[in-house]
Amino acid sequence: MAGSMPLHLPGRPVSSGTGFLLAVVFTAVAIAARWIVDPWLGDQSALITLPAAVAAAAWVGGWPAAVLAAIVGYVACAYLFIGPSGGFGFYGIAGLFPMAAYAVSCVVIISLAEALRGLAARHERALLDRKRAGATRALLASIVATSDDAIVSKTLDGVIQSWNAGAERLFGYTAAEAIGQPITLIIPQERRQEELSILERLRRGERVDPFETVRVAKDGRRVDVSLTISPVRDDEGKVVGASKIARDISDRKHAEQALRDADRRKNEFLATLAHELRNPLAPIRNSLEIIKRADGDRDLLRQGRDAIERQVGHMVRLVDDLLDVSRITRDQLELRRTRVELASVVHQAVETCRPLAERENQTIGLRLPGEPVYLDADPVRLAQVFSNLLDNACKYTPPGGSIWLTAEALGDDVVVSVKDSGIGISPEELGSIFDMFARVDTTLERSRGGMGIGLTLVKRLVEMHGGTIEAHSEGAGLGSEFFVRLPVRTAEPAAREEPVAAADIEPGPARRRVLVVDDNVDSADSLATLMRLSGHETRIAYDGEEALAAAEEFRPEAILLDIGLPKLHGFGVCRRVRATPWGEDIVMVALTGWGQDEDRQRSKEAGFDRHIVKPVDYQALTELLGSLLAEKEGRTASN
Ligand code: ADP
Repeated sequence: MAGSMPLHLPGRPVSSGTGFLLAVVFTAVAIAARWIVDPWLGDQSALITLPAAVAAAAWVGGWPAAVLAAIVGYVACAYLFIGPSGGFGFYGIAGLFPMAAYAVSCVVIISLAEALRGLAARHERALLDRKRAGATRALLASIVATSDDAIVSKTLDGVIQSWNAGAERLFGYTAAEAIGQPITLIIPQERRQEELSILERLRRGERVDPFETVRVAKDGRRVDVSLTISPVRDDEGKVVGASKIARDISDRKHAEQALRDADRRKNEFLATLAHELRNPLAPIRNSLEIIKRADGDRDLLRQGRDAIERQVGHMVRLVDDLLDVSRITRDQLELRRTRVELASVVHQAVETCRPLAERENQTIGLRLPGEPVYLDADPVRLAQVFSNLLDNACKYTPPGGSIWLTAEALGDDVVVSVKDSGIGISPEELGSIFDMFARVDTTLERSRGGMGIGLTLVKRLVEMHGGTIEAHSEGAGLGSEFFVRLPVRTAEPAAREEPVAAADIEPGPARRRVLVVDDNVDSADSLATLMRLSGHETRIAYDGEEALAAAEEFRPEAILLDIGLPKLHGFGVCRRVRATPWGEDIVMVALTGWGQDEDRQRSKEAGFDRHIVKPVDYQALTELLGSLLAEKEGRTASN
């Protein structure tokens, strides 16, 4: 403790215990000193060494220690050194004088020491405060210097006084360039009024709530900032200027704008979607009316039927595209790659678009490489790419126009171009046509039918195949050309080529027992009617439990089962049928609106033979049924 004792007069005494201890030690030293000089002094000046001990005790231990030293010292010295040793040296009135003189000098010494201590304490406190203020200032300065925000101070006349590194970064002016300049240096012309009213409020000592505004950087760039401005006061509390913190909020502003744009595009898309889905309904309804009134007139019947077929086909394509886009945005679209020959894919795409081109009196020219070109691709998806491009070419080309599809091998790639003589695309629109929901001229395109997702799909599919797509157009009215570049697979014997379209499947024997289950009554009834027209025996059920009962009683060879059924869903029906002794070999096909991979997986687990996404192409369905039934029969026969 004594070791940590400061050398200067301490502002605070040591703890009282230590103080008393030291007082006793000092007194003992003083007595020892008096004892050493006793042979020379004799009875004289018995208390001579004590004031030093009292002063020392007052110095380190404060007044209580000093008083202790004074009393203990007096008693000991009086006993040891006054009169005959062993007495207390108190000899009548005369002895009172030295005692009083001693007491007075002790009081003076102790008072002096206490006064000095007070001074020292004040001095120490002042030093400490100054040190603290210095550290705080240094900390503040470092916060300001390293802050990402621009921190600037200005006078009440709007003259810049300080300018941190954040301000240099945000506004592009160095501190040397900015300090001394008016703050209007970074305020755009149309916001000057804002600054005047801010200065006015600052002069009144008011704080300005944080607000968002725009500032301009040295290079003329406009910066979105959030500003917090507070008055700066001098020691008397008078407002002498203002500090201002500007935070760059450009990223947030851009994100907000992007959200607004996306929201607007989404709303436009929904409006278009409603429009596009409703569009085919009018001709379908009209055609149905025609069929109703045709009264056996074969031409009228065919006309109605063709129109319905076309319009339904259009709707199915729309819905398929929508589902694909939703899969793409969730990264759930999978390619089923195999070795395919380009020409077969292209021909398939051309055939898909031929009816549209013929109706519009357009010609489709085709030029393919002499040698077969093989790709490692998903034939269905690749055909979708080209038919989408051809479909657009027909859509955006006036009647009588021309469309060309050419393919050319270039090194390890093949480049397929789809070109038209149509309305063309202006340079500013070229950049965005592959964006989701991008439709160039909304008013114009409405009449052409389109939701702005076709090219998004195309681009994504091409990229998934490791390829690229580019659009070119000389401008409005000058036609368009799309280039798809795909990597070629090194040639292998053609024998391994996979067929593009599903192989022709022999339909099974004509008459089958088929149970159709769907809670959409029209859907169930129409499918059952078609089945009956194809010569099959049918039963219909509209919910899960009814389906089980019908299956039990009717013992069908095939069940076409919707999944989302009341009472018992399709998976449950399938499981229960499969669990019966008669249900094992029934062909069970799930017909559903859900086509994700996990839906297919669930169907498989429930025991379905196939999972087909609605709306079902009847021809394809009967072919599938035929092949499944034949397969089962083959298996049963071989058992
Ligand atoms: P949409 O369903 O609107 O056709 P797409 O994604 O297929 O959507 O095309 C996006 C936009 O690109 C179209 O709305 C159209 O303005 C433009 N476009 C696409 N293909 C052509 C083309 N061959 N000629 C002119 N414009 C085209």
